[in-house]
Amino acid sequence: DRPTETHAFQAEVSRLLHLMVHSVYSNRDIFLRELISNAADACEKLRYLALETPALLGDDGNLAITLAADPAAKTLTVADNGIGMTRDELIENLGTIAKSGTKAFLKAVGEGAKSSNLIGQFGVGFYSAFMVASRVVVTSRRAGSDQAWTWISDGINGYDIRPAEGDEAPARGTVIRLELNDESTTYADEATVERIVETYSAHVPVPVTFVKAGEDAKALSDGSALWAKPKSEITKEAYKEFYGNVSGQWDEPAMTIHYKAEGRHEYSVLLFVPSMKPFDLFDPARKGHLKLYVRRVFIADDVDLLPHWLRFARGVVDSEDLPLNLSREMLQHNPVLEAIRKNVTSRLLSELAKLAESDAAKFAEIWEAFGPVLKEGLYEDAERRDELFKIVRFRTTASGEATRTLADYVAGLKENQTKIYYLLADDPARAAASPHLEGFAGRGVEVLLLTDPVDAFWVRTALGFEGKPFQSVTQGASDLDAIPLVDAAEPTPDAETATGTVALVARLKELLGDKVSDVRTSNRLASSPSCLVAPEYGPDKQFEKIMARHQG
Ligand code: ADP
Ligand code: MG
Repeated sequence: DRPTETHAFQAEVSRLLHLMVHSVYSNRDIFLRELISNAADACEKLRYLALETPALLGDDGNLAITLAADPAAKTLTVADNGIGMTRDELIENLGTIAKSGTKAFLKAVGEGAKSSNLIGQFGVGFYSAFMVASRVVVTSRRAGSDQAWTWISDGINGYDIRPAEGDEAPARGTVIRLELNDESTTYADEATVERIVETYSAHVPVPVTFVKAGEDAKALSDGSALWAKPKSEITKEAYKEFYGNVSGQWDEPAMTIHYKAEGRHEYSVLLFVPSMKPFDLFDPARKGHLKLYVRRVFIADDVDLLPHWLRFARGVVDSEDLPLNLSREMLQHNPVLEAIRKNVTSRLLSELAKLAESDAAKFAEIWEAFGPVLKEGLYEDAERRDELFKIVRFRTTASGEATRTLADYVAGLKENQTKIYYLLADDPARAAASPHLEGFAGRGVEVLLLTDPVDAFWVRTALGFEGKPFQSVTQGASDLDAIPLVDAAEPTPDAETATGTVALVARLKELLGDKVSDVRTSNRLASSPSCLVAPEYGPDKQFEKIMARHQG
């Protein structure tokens, strides 16, 4: 046997723990949902692995979560008979931060966001146990292993790890014992624990029981799958609570979609659109987070059940017809999954369109959070572009603080206007002040103000909307001649001005030489004397800037 080893936490873990302990965040209850959700994950992982290796279950096939409280000893224990952890896994999982989301969380705190607010919105996982415990003792045995390990930490000075001793070792799975701090002894009370489970964990898909010293176990939750129940039996609170567990977030779902598909393929879908941006939203991997189940058995949470540009959705897809013994290979190229993916994508888009009609304010909230992600679809998914064009919203020179649709834009076209004009810029204020807009303002022509990085990509590849091509106002000729000014006649220069202008243009060309490809007069300006424009073909200036940033 190896002796006790002492390890330091990774620097990021120390920072996170310091935040947890010193945060003024008042709802410490949340730690229990985190631990129960980890325990449920561990059970589901084992159930999945046991499909191929039934021996892993041994004679204990009833996967369950057991809570035990001891008010006298001031302890609360969360135990599961799931997959468990090896020594290396304990070190890796409970001593480092691997998740990009948590790293982004720390970065947000570093940038001045209130940690207490963030803790209240995003799941911070296992480490939240240190909000209530002065010492955490984790004893775990990986399924099939003959050695169990104990991890002990006060959340300040790193952790110790040693072989588990005697009867502290579970036959399989993980026991987490919290030695509660003086402010948190209420978590050793049955009533408190029961209330928290009822509030936050009543619908985890693994049963939860509570045991009190010397008494019978009491079931707190039966572990049945919420998504398999009829909609009419599910309360709003139950959906919300399930959302919390499946997303790991603490916000309210902005939209809930629950349906059962029956036909060629049979499956249940329970999807949520969050109201807050998850921290990994712009992670380069652009991973989705839907969980795939097959007949109530968790299979994987890294299958692309939606395109990348819908990666903000959270929830569950449970198939009735896939085989349980799906290999990784089969998950990647499976026609049933392909059909499901198509259908769920269509459903989510049509529900978003419906919401935009029925509850504009709610839709605006979703658009505010996820519009930039949805717009990636305009660029990547030509097949879905028309559907997306129905829901995309824009700030324009006519929108004020509200937003406009492309349909709104087209309905407001001016006499002889054949194009949809846009301006790419870094931010709306800068966009609105651009001299390129003067001639358009004079003609009452609306211009889309595109300020998300993704805009530069889709707007150049989309062919147009309702036969109207997209045209950058900073590129090529402005072709505004045919569109009448709003409150003045088009000024006709007298002979002297006209000759003077020709001479000025010639002189400027001479002075600027190779630095420009052309100098010309333009009616895109009204009060500014000049502006730079990009050539008709080739990249827009803003697009060039974005590309340079990506490469740099
Ligand atoms: P997350 O659950 O989002 O991955 P956590 O901080 O909650 O993050 O947990 C970190 C990791 O520790 C988990 O991903 C898992 O690998 C491991 N873990 C935590 N609790 C358990 C448990 N009860 N059984 C097995 N592994 C666990
Ligand atoms: Mg977790």
